[in-house]
Amino acid sequence: MSAVLSSLTRRNRLTIVAVAALALYALFFASSYDQRILTLAGIYVIMVLGYQFIFGHAGALSLAQGAFFGVGAYVTGILASQYGTGFLLTFPLSIAGASMLALIVAVPVLRLASHYFALATLALSQLLLLIAVNWVSVTGGANGLPGVPPITIGDWQATRGTSLLLFVWGIAVAAMLVARWQLNPLRVAVFTVMRDAPLAVPAFGIDPGLLRLRAFVLSAAFGGAAGALFVHTNRVVSPETLGFGIMITCLTMTVVGGRFGILGAVIGALLLTHLPEWFRGLDEYYLVAVGVLLLAMVVFAPDGLASFFKQRRIPASPPGHAATGIEENATSVKTGVRVLEISNLSKRYGGIQALDRVDLSINAGEIVGLIGPNGAGKTTLANIITGIARADSGSIGSAGFDLTTATPTAIARRGIARTFQTPQLPDGLTVHEAVATAAANIGNTANKASSISARATTAIATCGLTRIADARCGTLPHGLRRRVEIARALAGAPHILVLDEPAAGLAPPEQAEIAEILRTLAASGLAVLVIDHNIEFLRPLATRLACLDAGRLIADGPLDEVLADDTVQNAYFGLVQQ
Ligand code: ATP
Repeated sequence: MSAVLSSLTRRNRLTIVAVAALALYALFFASSYDQRILTLAGIYVIMVLGYQFIFGHAGALSLAQGAFFGVGAYVTGILASQYGTGFLLTFPLSIAGASMLALIVAVPVLRLASHYFALATLALSQLLLLIAVNWVSVTGGANGLPGVPPITIGDWQATRGTSLLLFVWGIAVAAMLVARWQLNPLRVAVFTVMRDAPLAVPAFGIDPGLLRLRAFVLSAAFGGAAGALFVHTNRVVSPETLGFGIMITCLTMTVVGGRFGILGAVIGALLLTHLPEWFRGLDEYYLVAVGVLLLAMVVFAPDGLASFFKQRRIPASPPGHAATGIEENATSVKTGVRVLEISNLSKRYGGIQALDRVDLSINAGEIVGLIGPNGAGKTTLANIITGIARADSGSIGSAGFDLTTATPTAIARRGIARTFQTPQLPDGLTVHEAVATAAANIGNTANKASSISARATTAIATCGLTRIADARCGTLPHGLRRRVEIARALAGAPHILVLDEPAAGLAPPEQAEIAEILRTLAASGLAVLVIDHNIEFLRPLATRLACLDAGRLIADGPLDEVLADDTVQNAYFGLVQQ
């Protein structure tokens, strides 16, 4: 027993003590009124856990959680009170109803930018409220429907008091397990990248649309479950379950408790359901006291009270526990084989011809430098190759696949990785976590966690970053951030690497380190396209040089020949050396 206790972390020991104390209070000391408050807290825990998916992890201010709660409440309320349908059917139907609604509205709503998304979800809640109030024959209108029976399973009933409390908290624990399963540390890290560096997510083979959809539907499912339990507790379903009050309660609980993690949901729900009880004696000053307390919490714990406790992190694999696969795409392509073929590519932005009939090819094992004056179209070319922008005409092929109209996610999965002109790294993630996000395809993160972690470890080692694997990206100097981006690109086992100004802002020794990494990668068969202005960086590195000017490819060949070319001298050096 003592061995088991000593093997627990301090956090786990604290959690066990807190849960035991709460259980003792709930079962032996709480009055039936206190038990009712605790039951409501359990219901809100489920709703907040769901809301954390969309508001916390996906970072989208949804105001529809109250609507999903209401849909769950009405599905159960109507079926149970009007048709006598049992809990074992109404409960899953409530979850399914809310999830279906989320799926239906997701198509138009999820594409909207943040404030429009909030407004659209608010409009959904208002629409449902209108329906509930006006469709009297089905919903009972403003008065709602009384006579919702207690939860009944076979001969067993959870009428009120201890049985209902235990049942609701039992479902809350099941909801926690589902949330924990859905939010493994790797997926949490991917969500962090989606919030803090949105460009990077599709560039590493992860579909941000699907990620957001998953979060929205899960939030609805949890909301629907909470609503169903709520009407069994209140024994009546009324428009209040769809009202804005529920939404505000949910939002406040999430902000106060924490946008991430089970602990945040439990703290937020328990605290906000009990605050009114604790401050009841203050009479008319009650609201002021609650307001001041909430304000203080938001100021002193802006990430919620749960942020004082450590979060789960992706465990780093020890160095040397290398994954196979970092270079698996690269080595599967023979050096010299053409891996990227760009033909006749054009792109216009309004009156600007950013790319004009560009032809360029890259072979495995080659390092092609791409130069050109500012505005020549270099980043546009990188964006089109990696699917972030779409060409007006022309084609891009790689290893037999036409990637001209492919999505960034599909292109990344075909082994084309990139880095960005401004590194797209979330400050809060460690180097290991940031790199691991690219080693995973979100669809199968759960069972491959250890190999993903090992793959990240190898990519980090390849870029000479092992000693800072546990450092937060936000604490790193610019040069190291650029190397972390390269490690992240490698973690997806690409066969083509596109780098947008990897040497910009770096001191010569740092540039030399990056050049050395790229040479090693190219020697293993990786095709590298390096966009840079810095000829001193490219000279010893590039096996070929291409030059863009006003969207046109004006030269492509051996480095010395291109640099000596008159057109290049005019277009590039003429401008740069003024
Ligand atoms: P730099 O070296 O300064 O980064 P670049 O060679 O990478 O320049 P691009 O960023 O590709 O050049 O831009 C090419 C031209 O296309 C520029 O005139 C730029 O203003 C324009 N452009 C690029 N992206 C867009 C956009 N999204 N909307 C409108 N114009 C754009």
